[in-house]
Amino acid sequence: MTGQDIRLLSAYLHISPDEFVAGFCAFSGGRPILAQGPDGYCIFWDKVCTIHPVKPRMCKAWPYIDSVLIDTDNWRIMAGSCPGMAADAADDRIRAETAAEIKKRRSS
Ligand code: SF4
Repeated sequence: MTGQDIRLLSAYLHISPDEFVAGFCAFSGGRPILAQGPDGYCIFWDKVCTIHPVKPRMCKAWPYIDSVLIDTDNWRIMAGSCPGMAADAADDRIRAETAAEIKKRRSS
């Protein structure tokens, strides 16, 4: 997560950024990521995203993420758990739509 993600989430939860990281994060490669709850899902998942208005940048971007441009198989893997994604879309279309969404996001 970015520093901005942590600031927004901690303000939303009315706790300090340090308390947020201590209580709701795990670490991957030395960087904070959202922890998993006992069910193995994101700690903020409870049939819906309970922090939807301030969910982290990566959650807002999903599934239009850089790793799809590197390998469209990443799209198909995600599509395996999301019925809203077209798992059978052509590689060219996946790349074009992902690139367009990333460009739109970065210019806004
Ligand atoms: S959208 Fe992100 S923050 Fe919300 S439940 Fe899913 S992984 Fe967690």
